Amino acid sequence: MKHAFECIIVGSGGAGLYAALETSAKAKTAVLSKLYPVRSHTGAAQGGISAALGNREEDKPEWHAFDTVKGGDYLVDQQAALIMARDAVQAVYDLEIRGLPFSRTSEGRIDQRRFGGHTRNFGEGPVRRACYAADRTGHMILQTLYQQCIKNNVSFYDEFQVIDVILEGRDCKGVVAVELATGEVHTFAAKAVLFATGGFGRIFKVTSNAFANTGDGPAVLARRGIPLQDMEFYQFHPTGIKGLGILITEAVRGEGGILRNRAGEPFMKTYAPTLLDLAPRDMVSRAIMTEIQAGRGMRGDRKIDDWVELDATHLGAKVLNAKLPDITDFCKTYLGVDPSQGAIPVLPTAHYAMGGIPTDLDGRVLADEKGTVVNGLYAAGECACVSVHGANRLGTNSLLDLVVFGRRAGLHIGDYVKTAAVPELPADVSDRAVQWISRLTDGSTGPHGGDISEEMQAVMMEKVGIYRSQAQMDQAVETVQQLRDIYDTVRVQDRSRPFNTDLLETIELKNLLDLALVTAVSAAARTESRGAHSREDFPERDDETWLQHTLAFLDENRVNLAYKPVDTSIWDPKPRTY
Ligand SMILES: Cc1cc2nc3c(=O)[nH]c(=O)nc-3n(C[C@H](O)[C@H](O)[C@H](O)COP(=O)(O)OP(=O)(O)OC[C@H]3O[C@@H](n4cnc5c(N)ncnc54)[C@H](O)[C@@H]3O)c2cc1C
Repeated sequence: MKHAFECIIVGSGGAGLYAALETSAKAKTAVLSKLYPVRSHTGAAQGGISAALGNREEDKPEWHAFDTVKGGDYLVDQQAALIMARDAVQAVYDLEIRGLPFSRTSEGRIDQRRFGGHTRNFGEGPVRRACYAADRTGHMILQTLYQQCIKNNVSFYDEFQVIDVILEGRDCKGVVAVELATGEVHTFAAKAVLFATGGFGRIFKVTSNAFANTGDGPAVLARRGIPLQDMEFYQFHPTGIKGLGILITEAVRGEGGILRNRAGEPFMKTYAPTLLDLAPRDMVSRAIMTEIQAGRGMRGDRKIDDWVELDATHLGAKVLNAKLPDITDFCKTYLGVDPSQGAIPVLPTAHYAMGGIPTDLDGRVLADEKGTVVNGLYAAGECACVSVHGANRLGTNSLLDLVVFGRRAGLHIGDYVKTAAVPELPADVSDRAVQWISRLTDGSTGPHGGDISEEMQAVMMEKVGIYRSQAQMDQAVETVQQLRDIYDTVRVQDRSRPFNTDLLETIELKNLLDLALVTAVSAAARTESRGAHSREDFPERDDETWLQHTLAFLDENRVNLAYKPVDTSIWDPKPRTY
């Protein structure tokens, strides 16, 4: 079936919905989502959204921007960070006006709490900058935005999975999607397409990410020649539930929770004497692994699955129930632990992609290191790289990124569609997608994708994880290449058309394999340690050679790398201490 809209938005998380709110005022807009909209991963976000409101103590957008740049180990584009920090204040009030039920101070203002790496006066000490709705901030954002989109007559195509983009030269003309309920392939012609498909934590074995976080947007675009930026920077959140990876929000430490080793010592004092447990995530994750490797994990046997403890008992049941009710519930359900009574066993969990589809400040996708724009193609949210997170994102800056840059992209699209016309699509635009599905379901026998997926996740976790080395990353590249070869012989056993989740998961697996390859190749090439990219063989940051963004072009089985400068126009890079 064929459809035509002025604007197509792929993804109904915070970024997609905020953009849709803006575009719908000026353009006929449809949102395509492989999930029912409010099941998007944004709804799982717990801890908060940052903005220098100064409701609890003095704060300034400039401090926020600086913290973002320093937290990102100076790989952040600094003007982008400043725009984000300045727009943050109005963005949070806009959410409030649109109906978001924030937690409140006793005077009725939006309450704020501490979060990792957020400081007052350029690093003096922690500041209360994270606005929150208990530990359900993302849930509230998603519900608020969805209701507003319905009110504004946005058309929703729920459970439509985009599997290709229609690009002609430097022009984007639409997308190709499979409808889950029928298995039918649909084409959507559009003047402008925005990708807001979220993250891809599922390339790793232990992750906080939902099953749907398979990086479809970046992979679809990469296969059509769009580069991916800074993919070697993948964040491990320090506190996942041991073994499961389910997230225990940093807000637990923001409210006063403390990480302890086997001897009960609050070990972060050794690694970050000023910010302690509220140091940036890359540092805290490394500190945990160092404690475990030194035999100070809970079992003390230095094994990879040893763990440390997050102690929130001193916060008391009243604070936990009021400010962290979902976390309290998770601990009881998955661990049988009441966090007001006992410590939470934690280990780092794969959490957030700093890299993604390169864009300018208005969400326009960039085709190369010179900044060439692809007309009508936009990206926002976790799948995009503006870049405001650099080599390591600060907590609460992602929800902010969605709202600020989702909005900016939406506004730009609103103007762009006035000048463009809805393109006529040639009859064969969906051929590639149809042929792919036909091959996967042709009835011949082949391996099942599940085994490939497990092996990919294991190798990425082990060899492209928190600590990295050349030999390990080279091995990961080789294994992922082999798995991609095997993928070419994979067949789907379920050949029915309606609700063929086996087929759609097999398509998602291809996306994960492509992104795993790009991640491993980009990482293997960067011979320094910066932010989340930490190498045992190159332990120092090397600004002389590596103060630059990676752009990785996927060309069938090869990944070609190019580099572009970082915007350091405001603050000179300094060594990072906390
Ligand atoms: C457990 C958890 C807690 C977090 N807590 C916080 C926090 O407190 N503060 C913070 O700032 N950040 C937090 N983050 C990070 C933040 O929530 C995410 O980065 C952010 O929500 C991503 O939003 P998004 O709009 O980019 O994508 P998502 O919300 O992930 O939405 C992606 C959308 O794309 C759609 N989609 C994907 N592929 C396709 C396709 N092929 N076809 C059609 N549709 C598709 C999906 O259906 C979905 O609607 C957290 C993340 C996790 C996992």
